[in-house]
Amino acid sequence: MFKVENIRKDFPILSRQVNGKPLVYFDNAATSQTPQQVIDVIVNYYSNYNANIHRGVHALSQEATDLYEQARYKIQAHFNAKHAHEIIYTSGTTHGINLVANGFSALLKKGDEIIVSALEHHSNIVPWQMLCERTGANLKVIPMNQNGELEIKAFETLLNQNTKLVFVNHISNALGTINPIDHIIKKAHEVGAAVLVDGAQSSPHIKPDVQALDVDFYVVSAHKMCGPTGVGVLYGKEDWLNKLPPYQGGGEMIAEVTFEKTTYAALPHKFEAGTPNICGGIAFGAAIDYMNAVGFDAIAAYEHELLEYATNKLLEIEGLKIYGTSRHKTSVISFNLEGIHPYDVGTILDKLGVAVRTGHHCAQPIMDYFKIPGTVRASFAFYNTKSEIDILVEGVKKAKMMLS
Ligand SMILES: *Cc1c(COP(=O)(O)O)cnc(C)c1O
Repeated sequence: MFKVENIRKDFPILSRQVNGKPLVYFDNAATSQTPQQVIDVIVNYYSNYNANIHRGVHALSQEATDLYEQARYKIQAHFNAKHAHEIIYTSGTTHGINLVANGFSALLKKGDEIIVSALEHHSNIVPWQMLCERTGANLKVIPMNQNGELEIKAFETLLNQNTKLVFVNHISNALGTINPIDHIIKKAHEVGAAVLVDGAQSSPHIKPDVQALDVDFYVVSAHKMCGPTGVGVLYGKEDWLNKLPPYQGGGEMIAEVTFEKTTYAALPHKFEAGTPNICGGIAFGAAIDYMNAVGFDAIAAYEHELLEYATNKLLEIEGLKIYGTSRHKTSVISFNLEGIHPYDVGTILDKLGVAVRTGHHCAQPIMDYFKIPGTVRASFAFYNTKSEIDILVEGVKKAKMMLS
């Protein structure tokens, strides 16, 4: 049974105060909070297991290696990858995207095409621009509409024999729109293009099945799903990962090194040069255990309730406009008060203990589309409550009074 009062007890940070007020944490799309169960794993690792992995014959090294590799199996099971070696540890979503973009440098030629969506995070735009500069490939953009949804018909017309890679996020961080990635993947595969999906925003809310989606690459960050910062994974289909050249050279990623020629290690180590974030990987496994124990169906249902409640309450405020009004969205509300800069609203909310994000949310093209400098973004997690939303709504009313 989903009981938010009990869940909140798992998150020590939720009982702290900010500016003399109880913390209301609505910046979950930037990073999620960490439950005691995951904090304990981190403390336990440094108290009992800390050692470098894979190389040592000593007990500590073997224990750390076992825990790190067990976490990889957990992550594999969670995303339903066919093989554990299709799970590459990274430092996060950005790293995963860059790894794939770099690999495609070797596979693309002048005149090839890459398609990205208009709803992307900067981390999903810049690496592709860099890739196009290196290879002479062209970047095409799937346009969006006023609801913050991708124009799927327009996407279909962009596809052709030159399309080599399609890149789209599963859920937009700025607007919360859930993109129809099943359809996008199917259509892209019809012309032989590979698809990389950014799952940074979806993985905290839904449990994606990479085999059922038939996606070629899927990237996530642990810190958006109750894990620590600085760790994430790239899922890639075995065939694709074998085709891509290594990203970084170093220890761990080699089979044999001589000055004449170095041969690379097999997957996944080919892409895991250097000492990784060992504790982070283990803690990521613990975070996945934690979220599965709460249950993704329960999480989605509860967050939907929060979204509806907050949307209705906020829309009662005159002059408040919500950006991103797709029927298919997660618990993210991006909004502005007419004539008031989002930063000023955010500052007043912070005085009241309410943490929201203001600005362009690393998605400037979306803001340009709506011709606004940015928005106030409140993003909810399964440990938030309706009474916290009431505090937000009162705060927004207060900001409106003070600033207009
Ligand atoms: C947060 C986020 C990223 C970047 O994640 P990092 O952990 O900073 O690498 C990329 N894409 C989306 C959609 C995000 O929400």
